[in-house]
Amino acid sequence: SWIDQVIKQDQIDKYLINGKDFINENEIHNKLNMNKDCSKEKVRAILDKSLAVERLSFDETATLLNVTDEDMWEEMYEVAAEVKRRVYDNRIVFFAPLYCGNLCVNSCRYCGFRKENAGEERKVLTAEEIRRETDYILSQGHKRVIVVYGEHPKTDAKYIAESMKTVYDVKKKSRSGKNSYIRRINVNAAPMSIEDLKMLKEVGIGTYQVFQETYHKDTYKSAHPKGLKANYRWRLYSLHRAMDAGIDDVAIGALFGLYDWRFEVMGLLYHADDLEKQFGIGPHTISFPRLTPASGSELSIASKYLVNNKDFKKLVTVLRLAVPYTGLIITARENPEVRDEVVKVGCTQLDASTKIGIGAYDKAAHNEKEDKQQFTIGDNRTLDQVVNKLAEMGKITSFCTAGYRCGRTGDKIMNLLETGTEGKFCKLNAVLTFREYLDDYATEETKKIGEELIKKEFEEINNMEFYKNNKLLSVINDYYKRISEGERDLYV
Ligand code: SF4
Repeated sequence: SWIDQVIKQDQIDKYLINGKDFINENEIHNKLNMNKDCSKEKVRAILDKSLAVERLSFDETATLLNVTDEDMWEEMYEVAAEVKRRVYDNRIVFFAPLYCGNLCVNSCRYCGFRKENAGEERKVLTAEEIRRETDYILSQGHKRVIVVYGEHPKTDAKYIAESMKTVYDVKKKSRSGKNSYIRRINVNAAPMSIEDLKMLKEVGIGTYQVFQETYHKDTYKSAHPKGLKANYRWRLYSLHRAMDAGIDDVAIGALFGLYDWRFEVMGLLYHADDLEKQFGIGPHTISFPRLTPASGSELSIASKYLVNNKDFKKLVTVLRLAVPYTGLIITARENPEVRDEVVKVGCTQLDASTKIGIGAYDKAAHNEKEDKQQFTIGDNRTLDQVVNKLAEMGKITSFCTAGYRCGRTGDKIMNLLETGTEGKFCKLNAVLTFREYLDDYATEETKKIGEELIKKEFEEINNMEFYKNNKLLSVINDYYKRISEGERDLYV
């Protein structure tokens, strides 16, 4: 069968250590049970480590997860916000998801695209339709997309590579009269073989994202009863294979609400740790979608592990404290209030103007009704509205994609992040790309707040020794002037 052809057992076995997975459920449960001493002294000592921007151990993370004192949590929120400021300053990166196909051979019990879901419109976009979707995304001001596919022979690696080429090829004139184009494509797709992943590397993949959904094996089994996705290990090692294929930007994630949230946070850490152990590079980002109602998916209502808003903020906080250098993504599944809260304690990437139906951007462009979706969207704000709101909060939107195009990826970016150097480049590129956005796409109102923010950024930049010492001040001033005069895509 197709399933037997896809799964390559040797590309699972080679990553096992003594025949075992890096997820040891007993060990995770033990860590959570053994680290129940959450005295103020102990927790504060751990927080000091986070403040020194060091990664936490499994025991330390388990301790934080066990904190019950709400006052202590308030302290933890503050420290998480400070850690985020130290590593990422006030920058938020934006992307738009582009759903290219909703045909799927799997039966995930929480998903609207599951095979058994009758009455859904099932479709794989043609190249022309992908062009139209990209056109709309560009018209909003985006520079970065994540292309999303179900698991199906019609959306195999060849199709994915072709659709990526199509997206990269689309050009659209902005207000400045200059062509705008997608500068980075991340991919959310099913687990693949090393050979297939190499194909995606060749066409310029940014980050490859596969969520394990749940690290708890019995829960995994019951949520994924049939299809390719029923193979826990094929999925668990998909990002190991990506590393072997030369894709060193990978993204992990769990679907919160399937099993105990504390266990899943630990699972994510063990995953990050194993990637680091085996390849020297941790994940670029972590995602933590929560179960939301989807048509034909009984689990999203019935699960006893659904995570409330309060615990959600806690889990994001612990992740920020535990892995300071890893980006945290919060998607438009969540409503604006929840997003604002978790941005404060640690998220670094958001989507906006989001449509998750197949061909939905084009429909939006023509005011057509949307079809059913994989899950429900909680934040329907446009990119301009979110950029505006963040600017009010003193946060600058960055459309920077320079790191990837300058070869600052994988272990190189990790080193640069750890020494604080990458952040310095990011600050400059944020200002440059924000300038482009304000001139090309922003409403008058957003432009006004944005100008103030840029002024403040320049005050800081002009006073920082790093820029003076590295002769970057004249470069940024020159680039900024040229962009203000209409040039585009200049980066450091
Ligand atoms: Fe298919 Fe993904 Fe939905 Fe599962 S979650 S049914 S793999 S589209």
